[in-house]
Amino acid sequence: MSEHYIPQDLPTRIQHYIDGEFVDSVNGATFDVLDPVSNTNYATAAAGQKEDIDLAVAAATRAFTDGPWPRMKPRERARILNKIADAVEAAEARLAELESFDSGLPITQARGQALRAAENFRFFADLIVAQFDDAMKVPGSQINYVNRKPIGVAGLITPWNTPFMLESWKLAPSIASGCTVVLKPAEFTPLSASLWAGIFEEAGLPKGVFNLVNGLGEEAGDALVKHPDVPLISFTGETTTGQTIFRNAATNLKGLSMELGGKSPCVIFADADLDAAIDSALFGVFSLNGERCTAGSRILVERSIYDEFCEKYAARAKNIVVGDPHDPATEVGALVHPEHYNKVMSYVDIGKSEGRLLAGGGRPEGLDHGNYVAPTVFADVKPDARIFQEEIFGPVVAITPFDTDEEALELANGVKYGLAAYIWTQNLTRAHNFAQSVEAGMVWLNSHNVRDLRTPFGGVKASGLGHEGGFRSIDFYTDQQAVHITLGTVHTPKFGASTTH
Ligand code: NAD
Repeated sequence: MSEHYIPQDLPTRIQHYIDGEFVDSVNGATFDVLDPVSNTNYATAAAGQKEDIDLAVAAATRAFTDGPWPRMKPRERARILNKIADAVEAAEARLAELESFDSGLPITQARGQALRAAENFRFFADLIVAQFDDAMKVPGSQINYVNRKPIGVAGLITPWNTPFMLESWKLAPSIASGCTVVLKPAEFTPLSASLWAGIFEEAGLPKGVFNLVNGLGEEAGDALVKHPDVPLISFTGETTTGQTIFRNAATNLKGLSMELGGKSPCVIFADADLDAAIDSALFGVFSLNGERCTAGSRILVERSIYDEFCEKYAARAKNIVVGDPHDPATEVGALVHPEHYNKVMSYVDIGKSEGRLLAGGGRPEGLDHGNYVAPTVFADVKPDARIFQEEIFGPVVAITPFDTDEEALELANGVKYGLAAYIWTQNLTRAHNFAQSVEAGMVWLNSHNVRDLRTPFGGVKASGLGHEGGFRSIDFYTDQQAVHITLGTVHTPKFGASTTH
């Protein structure tokens, strides 16, 4: 194994960023941050508590109530968003280097994610100018129009998989809409979130618009969710965490957007372009270390091509290069944290009694340290198996045969999640019919995870609540106040004006 790469000038102290200043927690609390290859503590991060969230929310509230940001024209805000995108692009190599080091993501994939973060800012800069105010409508002598108003202080709570990009996914539309924000990033990967502060300052984002509080979910995250001055929470993470947040946000009736877990099916019919389907089914579960919400972690294959598929798929899975995240040849890096590694490994063990092991099944040869898991393929997995039903969130896939379209649909829908579905067939009628009936927020037909930023992103069932993406994100971060006025004579019924008695 090549020597483990440590970035130069690696921060060893990660702080909050509140009202334009880097600060420690009020009570000085910290938590350890590990790198997933050596599993040693390379930094300490400030562990935010209720009083830190209070300070951050107060700063964001001042910036919202008295500051220029919510009052700026969409075009002025867009100018700053575009500068942010420029700065993210300029910092792409450093961002990817730090992200890869902190999260274990292969460097080539981390670079792609950094560019996608820049794209999010450019996209919402354009959108906010094009569509912020709804067009007037004039039915008869009425003018009705919609005043769009940023809702206030947005609470953003994010997970550890592709952390910087997923933060951009919430930061870009919330600040484009004129909200001020408090971001609580995941405690496993706090490193890259601090970089936003410098990028935003340089781009000219006013002080107090962006605030960052690091810390544990049940402390800093919980305080943000329960804060009475935070009217909405955008959350991405596990379904069980989403349920807790849903309950805690109920007291103040907060707006909620929930992007949660998944166990998405990749359905391959006998008439599919098999080579393309295999490429996509490998990418679908092994890219991003399998730590991907939309992972196609259940592959359903029509029985007549089942054996051929399993053989070819397993052969390719065995060839995947697992190694140091910083090595450009690496296709699967190290899982984010020993806790998560242990969880994934426990599913690998469970799988050995639930399916037929075709590839992987443990630690890759020669990688004796670090959170490495060999890409693992189980075939003949029954629908009641835990590895069929539960989100593993690692490089582990379950393959199951089916005989008819109806059975394929039943298997696809037979889990509590409903985030994505991938369908491979040359028969377009079957593809569209399947798309209509499959319980998934997003469907890819003969394609993998490419998504235009204008389309909605979100899941059904236990995979989420609401959609983000395109104008749906702007809807979430704004109030839409309807204003009605009559032109000319007002024909209001004259209650009580009768003179007949
Ligand atoms: P997680 O739910 O453990 O944590 C997510 C965030 O919530 C973290 O910042 C955490 O500190 C915080 N948190 C935890 N408990 C909290 C509480 N009680 N109150 C407030 N905040 C709390 O999720 P994770 O392990 O970081 O991320 C992996 C999960 O995220 C997977 O289930 C994955 O499918 C999901 N995910 C979904 C999408 C999507 O768009 N649907 C995208 C990425 C990840």
